[in-house]
Amino acid sequence: MTALVTGAARGIGKAIALRLAKDGFDIAVNDLNERSFEGSDVIEKCREFGVRAERFYADVSKSAECEALVKAVTETFGGIDVLVNNAGITRDGLMARMSDEQYDSVIAVNQKSVFNMIKYAGNLMSRAKKGSIINVASVAGIYGNPGQMNYSASKAAIIGMTKTAAKELGRRGVTVNAIAPGFIETPMTDKLTDEQKAAMINQISMRRYGQPEEVASVVSFLASPDASYVTGQVIEISGGIMM
Ligand code: NAP
Repeated sequence: MTALVTGAARGIGKAIALRLAKDGFDIAVNDLNERSFEGSDVIEKCREFGVRAERFYADVSKSAECEALVKAVTETFGGIDVLVNNAGITRDGLMARMSDEQYDSVIAVNQKSVFNMIKYAGNLMSRAKKGSIINVASVAGIYGNPGQMNYSASKAAIIGMTKTAAKELGRRGVTVNAIAPGFIETPMTDKLTDEQKAAMINQISMRRYGQPEEVASVVSFLASPDASYVTGQVIEISGGIMM
């Protein structure tokens, strides 16, 4: 069984790769380029669980690169059983001052990538009549978040795309679900100021930030036979956020 995780050199993607390796999946670790893997031990750590793990470079906002990625992973591992669309970026700013570049780049990486990857990997799974796709959305796509017009648009779109793909692929035995993390401690959230972090914690019922492993455990469930009759759903992993 093989799992492909996009944007997995670090952060939540890395935690998902490690957890799925622990679950016994061979892991195809995607990230942008060689630089993305600098200082990352994700491949070595996955292999410690006794599974195969290989890196695959691709910019998932580009259709042709996704097609080549799916082909390369299939040639290397013989198929793709689980796809986790995790790659994502932020380019925050209040909407009055947000540039077209800020808006378009976030839509391309966060949203178009999901279309690209579901198109190619979903097609493969459809032919195999099995598979599980897990899309990483965000609470920002459900509740909105000031300064994240671009990001919340991309994550709300992922929720609609998840439900559509679940309806298209359900009869082929493929499940498609989304997770919506809240504030998780990763390099992405390290960029926020102390003031922003303090404001955020007061909105979390559990009064603490989440850890990447707490996201990965939900992905592990969705990728497992225990979730064989779960599709088209969005699971919040936010410590009870009230945005
Ligand atoms: P992160 O630490 O910034 O990691 C994101 C990874 O995606 C990086 O390795 C990055 O590579 C890679 N990436 C960026 N653009 C890519 C592209 N075009 N093609 C392939 N890979 C690309 O972020 P994270 O916090 O782990 O977030 C992972 C996912 O969770 C994202 O979708 C994010 O929106 C979502 N999320 C995060 C939080 C949170 O609180 N952290 C909350 C809700 C949702 P480089 O390092 O080379 O740029």
